[in-house]
Amino acid sequence: MPHSRRNILLPSMTPGSSRSVAVHRFGKAGARPKAYLQAAVHANELPGAMALHHLMPMLAEADRRGLIKGEIVLVPTVNPIGLSQLVGNNHLGRYDFLGRDNFNRNWHDLSGAVAERVGNRIGPKASDNVALIRKAALALLAAMKPANELHTLRVEVMKLSIDADIVLDLHCDMHALLHLFISRKDWPGPARALSADLGAEATLYNDPYPAALTFSGVNGALWARLAERFPAAAIPQACLSATVEYRGQHDVNHQLGDADARNLYRYLVRRRIISGRAGKLPRLKAEATPIGGMDVGYSPGTGILVYHLAKGSRVRKGTPVCEVIDPADPRGPKARKQIIARSDGILFSRKQDGRLAWPGMVLFRIAGAKVLRHRKGMSGLDD
Ligand SMILES: [Zn+2]
Repeated sequence: MPHSRRNILLPSMTPGSSRSVAVHRFGKAGARPKAYLQAAVHANELPGAMALHHLMPMLAEADRRGLIKGEIVLVPTVNPIGLSQLVGNNHLGRYDFLGRDNFNRNWHDLSGAVAERVGNRIGPKASDNVALIRKAALALLAAMKPANELHTLRVEVMKLSIDADIVLDLHCDMHALLHLFISRKDWPGPARALSADLGAEATLYNDPYPAALTFSGVNGALWARLAERFPAAAIPQACLSATVEYRGQHDVNHQLGDADARNLYRYLVRRRIISGRAGKLPRLKAEATPIGGMDVGYSPGTGILVYHLAKGSRVRKGTPVCEVIDPADPRGPKARKQIIARSDGILFSRKQDGRLAWPGMVLFRIAGAKVLRHRKGMSGLDD
């Protein structure tokens, strides 16, 4: 079946306005493996949409040539609500105005309801269980009656993703290296090749799986949660789900878009969704590190933010990363509060110089190999 496009129409929230989501499908509906890719859940994060802009013609061409053996569902910009948030000449897009929800939280954890539905039918054969669980999850989503636009968006999008073998949710940071958030369940497993093919410079795993209800979290953790509930049953980790952080918000150009699309394409070939030769796996740029080893710098107060270190710097514990300057304090250097790295590692994400900082604002993230006492039990999602 050739490439097709459809629009999901969302319910109107105000008279005279309505929004929709464009969905592209390549390959054969129902064929395996199935990959689901989306960008811009945080609607002001467009590097992933740029990668998909370059990937789509490659997939359409592969489809024409009959090379797509599985199924690829692709949503170039998944959040029209956030895309419409133009305020005072700025595009926002991270939080819902109506309920103040971060758009990448509160996706549906279906594991409890799926467990109830399939409980006594779980058997010894993993492939049967996978089919049973996917069917139950889709039936639950089909039965949901979402009340408003955002809820409808979440349900409709999960109908596209929940039965996929691979789910890639494309985001970006402010000033950052390409990095991945994954589940420990997938490492090394299928995530190692993903990290190598995409050229990730840091890969951070939730251990054992993301507890938070991010989009990538709920899709992957469905399997981990069910395996926990039925420890004697054969329930594999049937979906590799990852959040791909495509560098910084302004890292958008055709060179990067094209390279990122080629890397995604190669991974889809490697996973045999598209036929062809993936070739030798590129060298892994960084071993995965635990979320608990990620040091996060928070602003101690308000003032002018300025950095000492560029993104990608290797840091040692105790190194000052940035400072927050009280603009009203006349004492020069004494008006500057230093924020120190509390771990050795790579400074993979930071904000821009010159921003206003406020108390508790996240200033930087460092990927370190050792779990930090001050980060134990924290999810890493705090802005
Ligand atoms: Zn994001």
